[in-house]
Amino acid sequence: MAVPLLDLRLQYHALKDELDAALIRVAESQVCILGPEVSALEKELAAYLGVRHAIGVSSGTDALLMALMALDIGPGDEVIVPTFSFFATAGCVSRTGATPVLVDVDHTAYNMDPALLERAITPRTKAIIPVHLFGQAAPMDQILTIADAHGIPVIEDAAQAIGTTWRDGRPVGGLGRIGCFSFYPTKNLGAFGDAGLITTNDDELAVRLIQLRNHGMEPKYYHAFIGGNFRLDALQAAVLRVKLPYLDQWHAARQHNAGLYERLFVEAGVSTGPGRTTFSADDLILLPEAVNHTASSGSNHHIFNQYTIRSAHRNALRAHLADRGIGAEIYYPVPFHRQACFADLQARDTDFPVANCLADTVLSIPIFPELSEAQIREVVETIVDFERNHAAEPAECADCKECGTTH
Ligand SMILES: *Cc1c(COP(=O)(O)O)cnc(C)c1O
Repeated sequence: MAVPLLDLRLQYHALKDELDAALIRVAESQVCILGPEVSALEKELAAYLGVRHAIGVSSGTDALLMALMALDIGPGDEVIVPTFSFFATAGCVSRTGATPVLVDVDHTAYNMDPALLERAITPRTKAIIPVHLFGQAAPMDQILTIADAHGIPVIEDAAQAIGTTWRDGRPVGGLGRIGCFSFYPTKNLGAFGDAGLITTNDDELAVRLIQLRNHGMEPKYYHAFIGGNFRLDALQAAVLRVKLPYLDQWHAARQHNAGLYERLFVEAGVSTGPGRTTFSADDLILLPEAVNHTASSGSNHHIFNQYTIRSAHRNALRAHLADRGIGAEIYYPVPFHRQACFADLQARDTDFPVANCLADTVLSIPIFPELSEAQIREVVETIVDFERNHAAEPAECADCKECGTTH
C-alpha cells in the first residue's frame, strides 16, 4: 500500500463544490487583487486568531520581510533566529541588510532554546524571531520575558502554526509584536498557490504594514517610504475562506493520527513514548512530544504540520520507506549555520550541537488528516521492521558527540 507524505487532492475533492463555486465567484467579479474577498478573509482570520489586525499578503516569506521592514530593521542591526527552521526565517533578515544571529534549539520541541537567547542579545539586537516549528509553539513565556526586559520586539514565525495555542489557550501569532503566517499549500491551511498573513495588535503598525503591502503608497502615487508589491490575490483569499471553517477539524484529525502513531510505536516496542532524547535498546526511534500542553489549554497545543520522528539510521530508513512507496522528508537537512550563503556569519559548528544532531536524525512521516488507519499501520510496521533489523548497526550520526544523545 503506497502512503504519500501528503495528498492534497483528497482535501480538494472533499470540498470541490464549495471551492469551485468560490473560484467562479472571483472569476465573475474580476476583482483579482485585494478587494472584498481579501477583506472578508482578513476579518475571519482576525477573529480566529484573536488579533486586532490580520493583513493578507503575498506569502509567508513576504510577511517576515514586511515585519522587519515595518520595524525599520536594516544594515548594522542584528536579529536573533533559531538555526533550525525553513530558510525564509533567516533569509529575510539578510535581505534587509541586517545580520541574522543564530541560536541553537532544544531537543524535545526543536524550537529556539531560551537559555541561549539571553546570551545572544547585544546592543544591536533589533528583533527576535522565534519559530513555532512543525506546528508547536516556541517557549513564549521565557522568550517574551527576556525580550521585554531588553525592550526588543518579537516577530513570531507562525508559518507552520496557524491555530496552535500557547499554554493559556491563546493562539500563536498574537503573542509577540507581529505574527507571520504562510498559506503555502502544504501548511495546515493551504491556498492554491502562494499566500500569507501578517498579524498585529498595534494599530499604528497595522497602518504602516497595509501601506508597505502596496509600495508604501498613501495617497495614490505618493510614497512616504518604500514598500513592495506584497498584495494577496482574491482567488487565494476565496479558497482560504472556504477552508478556514474546516481547519480545527483537520487539526483534530492530525492530532488523532499523531496519537495513533504514538500508541502503535510504543506497542511495537520501538519507543517508550515521547520526550526521550536518547536512543537506546528501548527507544530505537524518538517520538515528537507536545511540550506545552496543560489540561486547561484546549486541544491545539500542537497542530502537527509535521510529525517528525528521529532515527539513528535516518538516511537508510528514508530510502527503505521510499522503496515501499511511503513518503517521508527531511525537514531540515542543513541548519542555517551550515548554509553556504551564511558562511560570512562565521558561525562555529560546535555552537549548535542539537541542530546538528537533528539535521542528521529527523524524518517527517505522513500525518495529513485524510490518512486511513490502515495507512498509518502500514507506515508503523514498515518503520518497526526496519529499525529492528538495523538496531545493531552503527548509527549514521555516530560523530555527533556533543548533543547529549548517545547512540
Ligand atoms: C513555509 C514557511 C515560511 C515561508 O512561507 P512561504 O509562504 O512559503 O513564503 C517561513 N517560515 C517557515 C518556518 C515556514 O515553514
